[in-house]
Amino acid sequence: MGEVKSEYIFKILDKYDKNNITIATLGSHTSLHILQGAKEEGFRTAIVCEKGREVPYKRFGVADEYIIVDKFKDIVNDDVQQKLRDMNAIVVPHGSFVAYAGLENVEDKFNVPMFGNRDILRWEAERDKERTLLVEGGVRIPYKYDDPSEIDRPVMVKFPGARGGRGYFVASSPEEFNKKIDAMKARGWLEDEDVANAHIEEYVSGCNYCIHYFYSALEDKVELLGMDTRYESSIDGFVRMPAKDQLDIDLSPSYVVTGNHPAVIRESLLPQVFEMADKLVDSAKKLVAPGLNGPFCMQTLVNDNLEVICFEISARVDGGTNAFMGGSPYSYLTYGEPMSMGRRIALEIKHAIEKEELEKVIT
Ligand code: ADP
Repeated sequence: MGEVKSEYIFKILDKYDKNNITIATLGSHTSLHILQGAKEEGFRTAIVCEKGREVPYKRFGVADEYIIVDKFKDIVNDDVQQKLRDMNAIVVPHGSFVAYAGLENVEDKFNVPMFGNRDILRWEAERDKERTLLVEGGVRIPYKYDDPSEIDRPVMVKFPGARGGRGYFVASSPEEFNKKIDAMKARGWLEDEDVANAHIEEYVSGCNYCIHYFYSALEDKVELLGMDTRYESSIDGFVRMPAKDQLDIDLSPSYVVTGNHPAVIRESLLPQVFEMADKLVDSAKKLVAPGLNGPFCMQTLVNDNLEVICFEISARVDGGTNAFMGGSPYSYLTYGEPMSMGRRIALEIKHAIEKEELEKVIT
Protein backbone atom coordinates (compact mmCIF):
# COMPACT_ATOMS: atom_id res chain seq x y z
CA MET A 1 0.00 0.00 0.00
CA GLY A 2 1.28 3.49 -0.85
CA GLU A 3 1.90 6.52 1.36
CA VAL A 4 -1.32 8.26 0.38
CA LYS A 5 -3.72 6.83 2.94
CA SER A 6 -7.47 6.85 2.47
CA GLU A 7 -8.00 8.56 5.85
CA TYR A 8 -5.96 11.51 4.60
CA ILE A 9 -7.91 11.68 1.34
CA PHE A 10 -11.19 11.53 3.31
CA LYS A 11 -10.04 14.54 5.33
CA ILE A 12 -9.49 16.48 2.11
CA LEU A 13 -12.89 15.32 0.92
CA ASP A 14 -14.46 16.58 4.17
CA LYS A 15 -13.41 20.11 3.26
CA TYR A 16 -14.76 19.88 -0.29
CA ASP A 17 -17.94 21.71 -1.25
CA LYS A 18 -19.98 18.67 -2.33
CA ASN A 19 -22.36 20.86 -4.33
CA ASN A 20 -19.49 22.12 -6.40
CA ILE A 21 -17.40 19.08 -7.38
CA THR A 22 -15.20 19.19 -10.48
CA ILE A 23 -14.36 16.01 -12.35
CA ALA A 24 -10.81 16.20 -13.63
CA THR A 25 -8.37 14.04 -15.54
CA LEU A 26 -5.20 14.13 -17.59
CA GLY A 27 -5.70 15.07 -21.25
CA SER A 28 -5.04 11.79 -23.02
CA HIS A 29 -6.35 8.18 -23.31
CA THR A 30 -10.09 8.33 -22.44
CA SER A 31 -10.35 11.90 -21.18
CA LEU A 32 -12.80 13.01 -23.89
CA HIS A 33 -15.63 10.76 -22.79
CA ILE A 34 -14.71 11.00 -19.09
CA LEU A 35 -15.26 14.76 -19.25
CA GLN A 36 -18.18 14.64 -21.68
CA GLY A 37 -19.89 12.13 -19.37
CA ALA A 38 -19.19 14.34 -16.35
CA LYS A 39 -20.82 17.30 -18.11
CA GLU A 40 -23.85 15.20 -19.02
CA GLU A 41 -24.31 14.45 -15.31
CA GLY A 42 -24.03 18.14 -14.44
CA PHE A 43 -20.45 18.41 -13.13
CA ARG A 44 -17.86 21.05 -13.89
CA THR A 45 -14.87 19.56 -15.69
CA ALA A 46 -11.13 20.24 -15.72
CA ILE A 47 -8.33 18.90 -17.83
CA VAL A 48 -4.63 18.79 -17.02
CA CYS A 49 -3.13 19.15 -20.45
CA GLU A 50 0.40 19.03 -21.82
CA LYS A 51 1.30 22.23 -23.65
CA GLY A 52 0.60 21.74 -27.35
CA ARG A 53 -1.89 18.91 -26.85
CA GLU A 54 -4.99 21.08 -26.23
CA VAL A 55 -6.49 20.78 -29.72
CA PRO A 56 -8.94 17.88 -29.27
CA TYR A 57 -10.22 19.25 -25.94
CA LYS A 58 -10.78 22.73 -27.34
CA ARG A 59 -12.39 21.41 -30.55
CA PHE A 60 -14.73 19.07 -28.70
CA GLY A 61 -15.25 21.55 -25.88
CA VAL A 62 -15.35 19.01 -23.06
CA ALA A 63 -13.39 20.95 -20.43
CA ASP A 64 -14.50 23.97 -18.38
CA GLU A 65 -11.04 24.52 -16.90
CA TYR A 66 -7.59 23.96 -18.34
CA ILE A 67 -4.48 23.39 -16.27
CA ILE A 68 -1.70 23.54 -18.83
CA VAL A 69 1.57 21.84 -17.81
CA ASP A 70 4.94 21.52 -19.57
CA LYS A 71 4.94 17.75 -19.27
CA PHE A 72 2.16 15.29 -18.44
CA LYS A 73 4.11 14.09 -15.40
CA ASP A 74 3.75 17.57 -13.85
CA ILE A 75 0.23 16.56 -12.77
CA VAL A 76 1.88 15.38 -9.52
CA ASN A 77 3.57 18.77 -8.89
CA ASP A 78 2.41 20.44 -5.67
CA ASP A 79 1.00 23.53 -7.40
CA VAL A 80 -1.09 21.44 -9.78
CA GLN A 81 -2.39 19.30 -6.91
CA GLN A 82 -3.32 22.47 -5.03
CA LYS A 83 -5.21 23.84 -8.04
CA LEU A 84 -7.11 20.58 -8.30
CA ARG A 85 -8.02 20.56 -4.59
CA ASP A 86 -9.06 24.22 -4.84
CA MET A 87 -11.63 23.28 -7.46
CA ASN A 88 -12.96 20.36 -5.34
CA ALA A 89 -11.61 17.97 -7.92
CA ILE A 90 -12.11 14.25 -8.08
CA VAL A 91 -9.52 12.87 -10.49
CA VAL A 92 -10.41 9.94 -12.71
CA PRO A 93 -7.30 7.82 -13.34
CA HIS A 94 -6.74 6.18 -16.73
CA GLY A 95 -3.90 4.26 -18.37
CA SER A 96 -1.96 7.33 -19.49
CA PHE A 97 -2.45 9.08 -16.15
CA VAL A 98 -0.78 6.15 -14.38
CA ALA A 99 1.94 5.84 -17.05
CA TYR A 100 2.85 9.55 -17.07
CA ALA A 101 2.42 10.37 -13.39
CA GLY A 102 4.23 7.18 -12.39
CA LEU A 103 2.70 4.50 -10.20
CA GLU A 104 4.82 5.39 -7.18
CA ASN A 105 3.84 9.04 -7.40
CA VAL A 106 0.16 8.10 -7.61
CA GLU A 107 0.59 5.87 -4.55
CA ASP A 108 2.84 8.15 -2.48
CA LYS A 109 2.54 11.77 -3.57
CA PHE A 110 -0.76 12.44 -5.27
CA ASN A 111 -2.88 13.88 -2.46
CA VAL A 112 -5.99 14.52 -4.49
CA PRO A 113 -9.15 12.40 -4.19
CA MET A 114 -9.24 9.82 -6.96
CA PHE A 115 -12.17 7.81 -8.26
CA GLY A 116 -11.79 4.06 -7.67
CA ASN A 117 -9.17 2.11 -5.76
CA ARG A 118 -5.69 3.59 -6.14
CA ASP A 119 -4.08 0.56 -4.51
CA ILE A 120 -5.24 -1.82 -7.22
CA LEU A 121 -3.33 -0.03 -9.98
CA ARG A 122 -0.14 -1.85 -8.98
CA TRP A 123 -1.98 -5.18 -9.27
CA GLU A 124 -2.62 -4.70 -12.96
CA ALA A 125 0.89 -3.34 -13.60
CA GLU A 126 2.81 -6.31 -12.21
CA ARG A 127 2.23 -9.55 -14.11
CA ASP A 128 2.54 -11.80 -11.03
CA LYS A 129 0.04 -9.76 -9.01
CA GLU A 130 -2.36 -9.59 -11.95
CA ARG A 131 -2.12 -13.37 -12.27
CA THR A 132 -2.76 -13.83 -8.54
CA LEU A 133 -5.99 -11.82 -8.81
CA LEU A 134 -7.19 -14.01 -11.67
CA VAL A 135 -6.03 -17.33 -10.20
CA GLU A 136 -7.53 -16.59 -6.76
CA GLY A 137 -10.80 -15.78 -8.47
CA GLY A 138 -10.76 -19.00 -10.48
CA VAL A 139 -10.89 -17.16 -13.82
CA ARG A 140 -9.85 -19.19 -16.90
CA ILE A 141 -6.46 -17.84 -18.02
CA PRO A 142 -3.81 -19.15 -20.45
CA TYR A 143 -1.79 -22.05 -19.05
CA LYS A 144 1.63 -20.83 -17.83
CA TYR A 145 4.91 -22.71 -18.39
CA ASP A 146 7.59 -22.48 -15.71
CA ASP A 147 10.47 -23.44 -17.98
CA PRO A 148 11.07 -23.32 -21.75
CA SER A 149 12.02 -27.02 -21.73
CA GLU A 150 8.35 -27.84 -20.97
CA ILE A 151 6.99 -26.27 -24.18
CA ASP A 152 4.79 -28.95 -25.77
CA ARG A 153 2.32 -26.90 -27.86
CA PRO A 154 2.18 -23.40 -29.33
CA VAL A 155 3.05 -20.78 -26.71
CA MET A 156 3.23 -17.01 -26.65
CA VAL A 157 6.39 -15.62 -25.08
CA LYS A 158 6.07 -12.20 -23.42
CA PHE A 159 8.54 -9.92 -21.66
CA PRO A 160 8.21 -7.45 -18.79
CA GLY A 161 7.07 -3.90 -19.31
CA ALA A 162 4.50 -2.50 -21.70
CA ARG A 163 6.35 -2.58 -24.96
CA GLY A 164 3.46 -3.08 -27.35
CA GLY A 165 4.36 -6.67 -27.86
CA ARG A 166 7.76 -5.80 -29.37
CA GLY A 167 9.91 -8.89 -29.03
CA TYR A 168 6.89 -11.08 -28.17
CA PHE A 169 6.91 -14.27 -30.21
CA VAL A 170 5.18 -17.58 -30.79
CA ALA A 171 7.01 -20.91 -30.50
CA SER A 172 6.02 -24.58 -30.47
CA SER A 173 9.08 -26.35 -29.03
CA PRO A 174 12.08 -25.66 -26.76
CA GLU A 175 14.31 -25.61 -29.88
CA GLU A 176 12.18 -22.99 -31.60
CA PHE A 177 12.12 -20.96 -28.37
CA ASN A 178 15.94 -20.91 -28.20
CA LYS A 179 16.29 -20.09 -31.90
CA LYS A 180 13.91 -17.14 -31.66
CA ILE A 181 15.50 -15.84 -28.45
CA ASP A 182 18.89 -15.82 -30.23
CA ALA A 183 17.39 -13.99 -33.21
CA MET A 184 15.75 -11.35 -30.96
CA LYS A 185 19.00 -10.82 -29.07
CA ALA A 186 20.90 -10.42 -32.34
CA ARG A 187 18.41 -7.69 -33.32
CA GLY A 188 18.94 -5.94 -30.00
CA TRP A 189 15.28 -6.42 -29.03
CA LEU A 190 16.11 -8.50 -25.96
CA GLU A 191 18.79 -8.49 -23.27
CA ASP A 192 19.93 -11.50 -21.24
CA GLU A 193 17.99 -10.26 -18.21
CA ASP A 194 14.77 -10.11 -20.27
CA VAL A 195 15.25 -13.76 -21.22
CA ALA A 196 15.43 -14.78 -17.57
CA ASN A 197 12.09 -13.00 -17.05
CA ALA A 198 10.39 -14.48 -20.11
CA HIS A 199 6.74 -15.23 -19.45
CA ILE A 200 5.66 -18.29 -21.42
CA GLU A 201 1.96 -19.03 -21.81
CA GLU A 202 -0.35 -21.18 -23.89
CA TYR A 203 -1.06 -19.58 -27.27
CA VAL A 204 -4.80 -19.16 -27.42
CA SER A 205 -5.95 -19.39 -30.98
CA GLY A 206 -9.12 -17.35 -31.00
CA CYS A 207 -10.89 -14.02 -31.35
CA ASN A 208 -10.15 -11.03 -29.18
CA TYR A 209 -12.83 -9.37 -27.03
CA CYS A 210 -11.94 -6.67 -24.54
CA ILE A 211 -14.85 -6.55 -22.16
CA HIS A 212 -15.62 -3.36 -20.25
CA TYR A 213 -17.35 -3.57 -16.91
CA PHE A 214 -18.31 -1.19 -14.15
CA TYR A 215 -18.44 -2.40 -10.57
CA SER A 216 -20.72 -0.22 -8.50
CA ALA A 217 -19.60 -0.24 -4.88
CA LEU A 218 -22.80 1.62 -3.99
CA GLU A 219 -25.03 -1.13 -5.39
CA ASP A 220 -22.57 -4.04 -5.09
CA LYS A 221 -23.23 -4.95 -8.72
CA VAL A 222 -21.16 -5.63 -11.84
CA GLU A 223 -22.49 -4.02 -15.03
CA LEU A 224 -21.44 -4.95 -18.56
CA LEU A 225 -21.05 -1.64 -20.40
CA GLY A 226 -19.41 -2.51 -23.72
CA MET A 227 -16.82 -4.44 -25.72
CA ASP A 228 -14.13 -3.70 -28.24
CA THR A 229 -11.47 -5.47 -30.22
CA ARG A 230 -8.03 -3.97 -30.74
CA TYR A 231 -6.64 -2.66 -34.00
CA GLU A 232 -2.95 -3.32 -33.54
CA SER A 233 0.07 -2.37 -35.58
CA SER A 234 1.84 -4.10 -37.16
CA ILE A 235 0.01 -7.41 -36.80
CA ASP A 236 -3.31 -6.23 -38.27
CA GLY A 237 -1.51 -4.77 -41.25
CA PHE A 238 0.52 -7.92 -41.84
CA VAL A 239 -2.55 -10.13 -42.07
CA ARG A 240 -3.70 -8.15 -45.13
CA MET A 241 -0.68 -9.44 -46.98
CA PRO A 242 -0.98 -12.71 -48.93
CA ALA A 243 0.45 -15.66 -46.96
CA LYS A 244 3.20 -16.22 -49.51
CA ASP A 245 4.48 -12.66 -49.10
CA GLN A 246 4.25 -12.98 -45.32
CA LEU A 247 6.63 -15.95 -45.57
CA ASP A 248 8.96 -14.13 -47.96
CA ILE A 249 9.54 -11.15 -45.72
CA ASP A 250 10.90 -12.18 -42.34
CA LEU A 251 8.19 -10.67 -40.16
CA SER A 252 8.27 -10.06 -36.42
CA PRO A 253 4.90 -8.56 -35.68
CA SER A 254 4.26 -6.13 -32.84
CA TYR A 255 0.99 -5.37 -31.08
CA VAL A 256 0.92 -1.60 -30.66
CA VAL A 257 -2.69 -0.48 -30.18
CA THR A 258 -3.60 2.18 -32.73
CA GLY A 259 -7.39 2.09 -32.36
CA ASN A 260 -10.40 0.00 -31.43
CA HIS A 261 -13.43 -1.54 -33.08
CA PRO A 262 -16.73 -1.83 -31.20
CA ALA A 263 -17.79 -5.45 -30.78
CA VAL A 264 -20.62 -7.63 -29.56
CA ILE A 265 -20.19 -11.22 -28.46
CA ARG A 266 -22.37 -14.26 -29.20
CA GLU A 267 -25.29 -14.13 -26.80
CA SER A 268 -24.67 -17.68 -25.54
CA LEU A 269 -21.28 -16.51 -24.22
CA LEU A 270 -22.77 -13.86 -21.96
CA PRO A 271 -23.12 -16.18 -18.94
CA GLN A 272 -19.33 -16.66 -19.02
CA VAL A 273 -18.84 -12.93 -19.54
CA PHE A 274 -20.74 -12.07 -16.35
CA GLU A 275 -19.40 -14.98 -14.32
CA MET A 276 -15.74 -14.18 -14.95
CA ALA A 277 -16.20 -10.56 -13.91
CA ASP A 278 -18.07 -11.52 -10.72
CA LYS A 279 -15.19 -13.86 -9.84
CA LEU A 280 -12.58 -11.16 -10.43
CA VAL A 281 -14.53 -8.63 -8.38
CA ASP A 282 -14.72 -11.12 -5.49
CA SER A 283 -11.01 -11.89 -5.54
CA ALA A 284 -10.14 -8.18 -5.76
CA LYS A 285 -12.28 -7.48 -2.67
CA LYS A 286 -10.32 -10.11 -0.74
CA LEU A 287 -6.85 -9.24 -2.01
CA VAL A 288 -6.92 -5.45 -2.45
CA ALA A 289 -9.70 -3.85 -0.44
CA PRO A 290 -11.94 -2.09 -1.30
CA GLY A 291 -11.61 -4.01 -4.59
CA LEU A 292 -12.31 -3.17 -8.21
CA ASN A 293 -14.55 -0.16 -7.60
CA GLY A 294 -15.40 1.58 -10.85
CA PRO A 295 -14.44 0.66 -14.41
CA PHE A 296 -12.32 -2.34 -15.29
CA CYS A 297 -11.62 -4.43 -18.36
CA MET A 298 -10.96 -8.10 -19.03
CA GLN A 299 -9.00 -8.70 -22.23
CA THR A 300 -9.99 -12.08 -23.55
CA LEU A 301 -9.61 -14.54 -26.38
CA VAL A 302 -12.49 -16.83 -27.30
CA ASN A 303 -11.40 -20.19 -28.72
CA ASP A 304 -13.40 -22.53 -30.97
CA ASN A 305 -14.47 -24.48 -27.88
CA LEU A 306 -16.30 -21.27 -26.98
CA GLU A 307 -14.23 -20.73 -23.85
CA VAL A 308 -13.62 -17.11 -22.87
CA ILE A 309 -9.99 -16.95 -21.70
CA CYS A 310 -8.67 -13.83 -20.00
CA PHE A 311 -5.05 -12.92 -20.78
CA GLU A 312 -4.92 -9.43 -19.25
CA ILE A 313 -6.93 -6.98 -17.17
CA SER A 314 -7.13 -3.23 -16.70
CA ALA A 315 -8.09 -2.23 -13.18
CA ARG A 316 -9.27 1.24 -14.32
CA VAL A 317 -10.97 2.66 -17.37
CA ASP A 318 -9.48 0.94 -20.42
CA GLY A 319 -8.75 2.69 -23.72
CA GLY A 320 -11.21 0.44 -25.55
CA THR A 321 -14.11 2.29 -23.88
CA ASN A 322 -13.53 4.98 -26.54
CA ALA A 323 -15.33 2.60 -28.91
CA PHE A 324 -18.63 3.43 -27.19
CA MET A 325 -18.57 7.10 -26.26
CA GLY A 326 -22.23 7.32 -27.26
CA GLY A 327 -23.17 4.08 -25.50
CA SER A 328 -22.96 0.46 -26.61
CA PRO A 329 -25.57 -2.24 -27.28
CA TYR A 330 -24.93 -3.49 -23.72
CA SER A 331 -25.14 -0.13 -21.99
CA TYR A 332 -28.36 0.41 -23.98
CA LEU A 333 -29.81 -2.78 -22.49
CA THR A 334 -29.10 -1.51 -18.98
CA TYR A 335 -29.86 2.19 -19.37
CA GLY A 336 -31.98 2.62 -22.51
CA GLU A 337 -30.03 5.78 -23.32
CA PRO A 338 -26.47 6.61 -24.37
CA MET A 339 -24.18 5.66 -21.46
CA SER A 340 -20.43 5.91 -21.97
CA MET A 341 -18.01 4.66 -19.34
CA GLY A 342 -17.19 8.28 -18.52
CA ARG A 343 -20.83 9.09 -17.91
CA ARG A 344 -21.24 5.96 -15.76
CA ILE A 345 -18.33 7.13 -13.57
CA ALA A 346 -19.95 10.55 -13.17
CA LEU A 347 -23.31 8.94 -12.36
CA GLU A 348 -21.69 6.89 -9.58
CA ILE A 349 -20.08 10.03 -8.13
CA LYS A 350 -23.44 11.81 -8.32
CA HIS A 351 -25.23 8.98 -6.51
CA ALA A 352 -22.45 8.81 -3.90
CA ILE A 353 -22.84 12.55 -3.22
CA GLU A 354 -26.62 12.19 -2.92
CA LYS A 355 -26.28 9.27 -0.50
CA GLU A 356 -23.39 10.94 1.37
CA GLU A 357 -21.24 7.89 0.60
CA LEU A 358 -18.41 9.43 -1.39
CA GLU A 359 -15.83 7.58 0.69
CA LYS A 360 -17.16 4.33 -0.83
CA VAL A 361 -16.05 5.33 -4.32
CA ILE A 362 -12.96 7.45 -3.65
CA THR A 363 -9.44 6.67 -2.41
P1 ADP B 1 1.06 -5.84 -23.95
O1 ADP B 1 2.18 -6.27 -23.07
O2 ADP B 1 1.47 -5.00 -25.10
O3 ADP B 1 -0.13 -5.35 -23.19
P2 ADP B 1 -0.66 -8.09 -24.45
O4 ADP B 1 -0.50 -8.99 -23.29
O5 ADP B 1 -1.87 -7.22 -24.51
O6 ADP B 1 0.63 -7.21 -24.64
O7 ADP B 1 -0.62 -8.93 -25.76
C1 ADP B 1 -0.57 -8.33 -27.06
C2 ADP B 1 -1.48 -9.10 -28.03
O8 ADP B 1 -1.06 -10.44 -28.12
C3 ADP B 1 -2.92 -9.14 -27.57
O9 ADP B 1 -3.68 -8.10 -28.10
C4 ADP B 1 -3.42 -10.48 -28.08
O10 ADP B 1 -4.00 -10.32 -29.36
C5 ADP B 1 -2.17 -11.31 -28.20
N1 ADP B 1 -2.06 -12.29 -27.12
C6 ADP B 1 -1.74 -12.04 -25.82
N2 ADP B 1 -1.71 -13.19 -25.11
C7 ADP B 1 -2.00 -14.17 -25.95
C8 ADP B 1 -2.12 -15.60 -25.83
N3 ADP B 1 -1.92 -16.24 -24.68
N4 ADP B 1 -2.44 -16.30 -26.94
C9 ADP B 1 -2.64 -15.68 -28.13
N5 ADP B 1 -2.53 -14.36 -28.32
C10 ADP B 1 -2.22 -13.60 -27.26
